[in-house]
Amino acid sequence: MRMPVADAIPLPPATVPAAATFPETDLLRRYDRPGPRYTSYPTALEFDPRFGEADYRAAAARCNAGAGRDPLSLYVHIPFCASPCFFCGCTKVITRQMPLAETYLERLYREIERQSMLFPRSRVVEQLHLGGGTPTFLSAGQLADLMGHLGRHFALSSTPEREFSIEIDPRTVTTRTLSQLPDIGFNRVSLGVQDFDPAVQAAVNRVQPAAQTMQLIDAAKRGDFKSISVDLIYGLPLQTEASFERTLDLLLAARPDRIAAYSYAHLPQRFKPQRRIRTDQLPSPEEKLALLQLTVRRLTGAGYVYIGMDHFALPGDELVKAAERGDLQRNFQGYSTHGDTDLIGFGMSAIGRIGESYAQNARSLTDYCAAIDADGLAIRRGLRLSAEDLLRRDVIAALMCRGQLRFSDVEARHAIDFAAHFSREVAALQTLAADGLVTLEADRIQVTAAGRYLLRAVAMVFDAYLSQPAAPAAVSAPPRYSRVV
Ligand code: SF4
Repeated sequence: MRMPVADAIPLPPATVPAAATFPETDLLRRYDRPGPRYTSYPTALEFDPRFGEADYRAAAARCNAGAGRDPLSLYVHIPFCASPCFFCGCTKVITRQMPLAETYLERLYREIERQSMLFPRSRVVEQLHLGGGTPTFLSAGQLADLMGHLGRHFALSSTPEREFSIEIDPRTVTTRTLSQLPDIGFNRVSLGVQDFDPAVQAAVNRVQPAAQTMQLIDAAKRGDFKSISVDLIYGLPLQTEASFERTLDLLLAARPDRIAAYSYAHLPQRFKPQRRIRTDQLPSPEEKLALLQLTVRRLTGAGYVYIGMDHFALPGDELVKAAERGDLQRNFQGYSTHGDTDLIGFGMSAIGRIGESYAQNARSLTDYCAAIDADGLAIRRGLRLSAEDLLRRDVIAALMCRGQLRFSDVEARHAIDFAAHFSREVAALQTLAADGLVTLEADRIQVTAAGRYLLRAVAMVFDAYLSQPAAPAAVSAPPRYSRVV
């Protein structure tokens, strides 16, 4: 069932004058601690292996009962990559064996058929995303087959408002393939760039000539896409302000609709490929901060609007419009205009959000294929949210997406007394208020322009799982989350 739009109050103007509102370096340092990115609440780390297929089927039945003609969102995970990028924390399979893709697609098709039987065709798919891994590991023909299969089993929207996107690795796509994507059904593309500097690219094992990428962005802009998004990462080995400024210069000349500039999270204990990154080549915390400041200054200076949590978009982009209307959402792909829609995940490791539950598929290729071959779905863990989880998810979503929260709205939706229920959290917010990250009024929390760069730190105040005392075994455990900056 769709959650009601949390607050009808519009956000304060989304345009961020960088120099005036960027938090002080000292403040950024103080709040730079590990924390979730809140693409879900509770986060995937809280998923329980006791949640299985029967729970998922029950969740689907419950949400359909109240959903009527509510739209659906689909996520398809294509896990294959030809070589490992050393910074990468995605769930992937490194291979150059193209036949593996066919074997995987066979399983995906069976999963699509089985999942489609759980949802009525009256629920139209308004959002669809192919992520990975590398979706463009598949040929144009395979992508067309996959979309055809999805279209036979789900009612895919054909309206211009639909958001059907695909992640592109510029190293694997020709301009010819790119030009075929709109006919296959995609109206949005997201290109992984990370950094144009050859030395940085070599250090992270992702050599991607700038000319090739620029040609693709150019072709995408001339093509039939509603939106072109580019991903960058700051904090990679050998990056300097001067080198990253050259990357930004190049990108700004191409002027994609959206730019995501992610902070590199070095968690080698969790992500094996990161062990191949030389720590002596990583920027210091001060240098990383300077890279962030540079990015914000250059992107906002070039007219991009800061959406929140690493995301920038041109005025007029759907994300900016949604932020201005106050109905921006957040899902596993980041900020979205359809994030509150029930989401079905397909493929290895894919996560779905159905009604009041999250569910994740088997995380290894072998387990995923075995589950599908055993005639079932591939659900391996998940969570049915408690009333307290739903309340906190609502509060965190309002802060992350709208930058504000009216107590009376939350009280009406969850039948609580906000001040009494969150007395500890409101007390904790006093420190953030004193630091200029939020303002506290009688009936409202408002994230300030500076606080919007530290949204995670604000949301963390309401995360019940973070405030639980760490189990003794966890004391020496690897960090669970990336740092806020
Ligand atoms: S960054 Fe993308 S292409 Fe590189 S290893 Fe990760 S998923 Fe594969």
